[in-house]
Amino acid sequence: MEVRGAPAVAARNPTLTPKAIIHQKYGSKACYTTEEVQGSSQNGCPGLVIPQHGPCMFRCTLQLPELSVTSDIFTRKKDAEQSAAKLALEKLGIQPATTNPTIQEAWDDMVARISYLFSNEFLSSTHPLSGHFRAAIQRVGDLYGAIPVSVLASYDAKLNSLCKSINPKVESDHFLVLSLVMRAARLSCSVVTSEEKLWIWRKNSFSPETIQALSNQQFSSIEGIRIKAIRIPCSIEKLVEPITLNVSSDEYYMDVMAGQLGVTDASEVLVSRTVGKTSSEMRLYYALKLPLHLSSSLEDSLKFKEAVKSSIFNARAYCLSGQHIYGDAILAAIGYTWKSSDLFYEDVSLNTYYRMLVGRLPDGGYKLSRDAIIVAELPIAYTTRSNWRGSSPRDLLCTFCRQHRLSEPVFSIISMDNSLDSPNGISEKFKSNVTNQTEEQTNANGESVDAFGREKVTLASTFRCEVRILSKNQDLIIEYLPKDFYRKQNDAIQNSALKVLSCLSKCFKQLYMSVARLSFEDSPSVCVHHENFLKEFELCPSVHSVQRTSVLRKCSLLTMNCMDRLDIKQEHFNIEGPDSGVFPSNGSLACISYVVYLVREGDHMKEILESSDEFEFEIGTAAVVPELEACVYQMSVNQSACFSTVVPHQDLIFAAAGNSVECLSLLSLEGCFLEYSVTLLRVMEPLEDRIEQALFNPPLSKQRVEYALRYINESCATSLVDFGCGSGSLLDALLDHPTALEKIVGVDISKKSLIHAAKVLHSKLSSNSDPSKPSANIKFATLYDGSITAFDSRLYGFDIGTCLEVIEHMEEEQACIFGNIVLSSFCPRILIVSTPNYEYNSILQRTTLANREDDADEKTQSLPCRFRNHDHKFEWTREQFNSWALDLAMRHGYSVEFSGVGGSADVEPGFASQIAVFRRGPLHQVDESYRGRNVVHHYEVIWDWISNNL
Ligand code: SAH
Ligand code: MG
Repeated sequence: MEVRGAPAVAARNPTLTPKAIIHQKYGSKACYTTEEVQGSSQNGCPGLVIPQHGPCMFRCTLQLPELSVTSDIFTRKKDAEQSAAKLALEKLGIQPATTNPTIQEAWDDMVARISYLFSNEFLSSTHPLSGHFRAAIQRVGDLYGAIPVSVLASYDAKLNSLCKSINPKVESDHFLVLSLVMRAARLSCSVVTSEEKLWIWRKNSFSPETIQALSNQQFSSIEGIRIKAIRIPCSIEKLVEPITLNVSSDEYYMDVMAGQLGVTDASEVLVSRTVGKTSSEMRLYYALKLPLHLSSSLEDSLKFKEAVKSSIFNARAYCLSGQHIYGDAILAAIGYTWKSSDLFYEDVSLNTYYRMLVGRLPDGGYKLSRDAIIVAELPIAYTTRSNWRGSSPRDLLCTFCRQHRLSEPVFSIISMDNSLDSPNGISEKFKSNVTNQTEEQTNANGESVDAFGREKVTLASTFRCEVRILSKNQDLIIEYLPKDFYRKQNDAIQNSALKVLSCLSKCFKQLYMSVARLSFEDSPSVCVHHENFLKEFELCPSVHSVQRTSVLRKCSLLTMNCMDRLDIKQEHFNIEGPDSGVFPSNGSLACISYVVYLVREGDHMKEILESSDEFEFEIGTAAVVPELEACVYQMSVNQSACFSTVVPHQDLIFAAAGNSVECLSLLSLEGCFLEYSVTLLRVMEPLEDRIEQALFNPPLSKQRVEYALRYINESCATSLVDFGCGSGSLLDALLDHPTALEKIVGVDISKKSLIHAAKVLHSKLSSNSDPSKPSANIKFATLYDGSITAFDSRLYGFDIGTCLEVIEHMEEEQACIFGNIVLSSFCPRILIVSTPNYEYNSILQRTTLANREDDADEKTQSLPCRFRNHDHKFEWTREQFNSWALDLAMRHGYSVEFSGVGGSADVEPGFASQIAVFRRGPLHQVDESYRGRNVVHHYEVIWDWISNNL
């Protein structure tokens, strides 16, 4: 099923819809049949795809005498009909343009239109263009009543669409419009044209009554106006600067513009289409450097263009307008509107300009939507709707395409049920997950399926979303064919949109470095069609030069636990305040307040660039600049920190700087740096943790501790190693219970977690001289930094090994390597391994649905993407876990039994967290001398504690 932002034709050709064209040709011989289609699908509105809850979707079949076609699926019947009509036109090879008026008719209409524009009647109309006529007749002298051709071409939609039917190329060729309008004017007998310049006059003067009527309403503003505008030099090296347009009450603003642009009169001023918000009158004004004998050049638009091209192309102006603009340009919001006969104007600040520029970057829309231009960065993952802040990736992508005049992005949703039959793209792992999920839905728990009838459909199916970005001419620019499936259609769409945005962003950055090379080794499912990409964007990056570091960073973050690799020293952040013990972790939502200052050494300049009292972001998704994320990751709630970084690109500085930008831009950024001041206000834990705590009593983590305790006591274990100990929650909890344990060890690859664990354990063990305390037996405690897939002989032969909720954080192959190593080399007497039970997820999700108050209106949106935690690489069904464990046990001479915590073994779908307990069998060869003979040290000691009582 294919979904476009909007049925393309209806939007682009307002004159005749495909259906109307079909009607002209076939009348009653065209027969439309519309059928209702069931199932989850899309609506056809631009900018939003919301999973449909109701079944009212439509597909239309159009029967013509020579052929029949069937449309895609749409929420609106009429969109389906238009789509069918459009398909039929394509099949018939009918261009909508050819059924528009013939070229001769269009010329006639142009001539008539021009005559009308210069009529008495039009002068007193409310058409925005009529304001120009009124202003022009206030002039005295030669230019009395003279109208620049560019004004007619820019402000009259009718002339424009007639030009388009004469020559469709006018869309991209502004000069062609000028030459066509000029030609039509020469054909009109009610106007005269200038020989050398692009002026048009009315042949006879306006009637005295009309003039009289006008002068009665005029002079509403005697004062004149001062309008702030922006000059954009065509040389990229020159800074954009603020200017003021002084328009006195009897002046035509186009004449003022001519003065600003350094040309002799307004006929040499060209006007772009509107930029920025659609309702605004913000346009770019630029000079037409006229060749001497215009008339002959104008006949040949190419020659004309060559002449103009000899002045310099303005890349920044091009980026804003999408039109080819030469020489310096002025960005101003001024003009006449339908609403009033007075001149409308708004100030345009440098800040407005820079924000528009940043907004056109693939990641700029996100920064703007978060109102955090310096601090926010396009995240690398869309984990859950409830953790996402700012505009959704899909909306951002649609806006990007619109701004760059591309077609609406095409999202194709593939649902699992359809694609099971297709041979490509589904990993075995996922297939079985889904199959099991479906069985569980149907054979167990009959009532809850009924009770959640609609849920069932959603939960049982999974979605993949392909995205295609096409130019206006339908050339393929980017194609994204993901392999990942998501439970929620929305998650599939948002993740795919985000992926494409990230790629675009990367392309922009690479393009800046070298136009020739664009590489995507790290994301093979994205295909960038380089030639087409360059055609659209070649000219942009010269404007948007980008921070160098972020490219490298984003690539390396994609696959790893980012904070541990960033390796930024804690001292660097000057963290202050007592450690409250509440830390953010990957997947948690941190809320901070921050201020970013621009500081210059030497003259003590310190300006606030950006600040926020409450700014939320998800940890681990690179949603903010790396230094800030690393800093917050080190902080506990209520602590403050302060650090500095290099300055980002000046466009970002100016876009962020608000009003102070005007003076900043005059200064150089040499010798400046940024200073950040941050306070961590609160932390919301990842959904997985919230689920575990909210839905189970005692919380699942506590139940796991109690479970482990049972085995520790039963076996009178004196030594324990916790594989993947994280921040030490298990070891810490064990210290509160009396056991025979004398030696406890933890291993993890996360240094940050280990440091936290060391702090907690150290203070607990050291403050513990009381022999009646539960942990008084402990003699040795050690924390190691290392991967549990590598062997270290210091951990050989322990009584108990635990590995709780760890294996799902590794790739499946790694989990197998760990299983083999632990049973063949570490050889604990007992090994307890826990991992989520995938089959239980539907229950967790249903329950969280019912329980969440925080975003009740977004119920179906707030679910986790695929697994309970986005850091999970897999979640196994009971069958998958059992086969992993049985195979290992058999291979290494261990026995294994299965149980779990949360839920019950006898009630479908089993435990929330499934546990395997391995016991070393009598046949297992235990080599007690191992430690002495083969010393293997792969781990690094992070913290080592020995009891004083020894
Ligand atoms: N067992 C802890 C932490 C679980 S979170 C608890 O129950 O609270 C998973 C932990 O596994 C993380 O701390 C992560 O750093 C760690 N981990 C992931 N892959 C690892 C590997 N290859 N070696 C060691 N630790 C790993
Ligand atoms: Mg986990």
